[in-house]
Amino acid sequence: MAKETGAVSWKELELGCTLVEAGSASKLKTGDWRSMRPVTDFDLCIKCGQCYIFCPDMVYSRNEEGYYIANYYYCKGCGICARECPKDAIKMVQEGD
Ligand code: SF4
Ligand code: SF4
Repeated sequence: MAKETGAVSWKELELGCTLVEAGSASKLKTGDWRSMRPVTDFDLCIKCGQCYIFCPDMVYSRNEEGYYIANYYYCKGCGICARECPKDAIKMVQEGD
């Protein structure tokens, strides 16, 4: 899981969300441009780790019980984890619901 090292929101990014400083993505609070978020049904989860592997932002980390937990600070709501989960254990829900 990426470290929570900064709180720069998308509103403070350069035009086109361009990163002008190399290696600076971890400083960005990418989760605040999300409109949907993934929610895991742990009754369906088989702890395979596909969500962890496919997430482009290293949002998931494994807890002591072996389940993968999302850190919404970085989650952009792209839905890849829900698409790749072999058990359909992850549902994308509207922010605010
Ligand atoms: S991909 Fe689905 S089944 Fe696999 S660990 Fe993630 S939530 Fe669980
Ligand atoms: S919605 Fe996208 S960014 Fe968020 S946890 Fe899933 S794969 Fe990662």
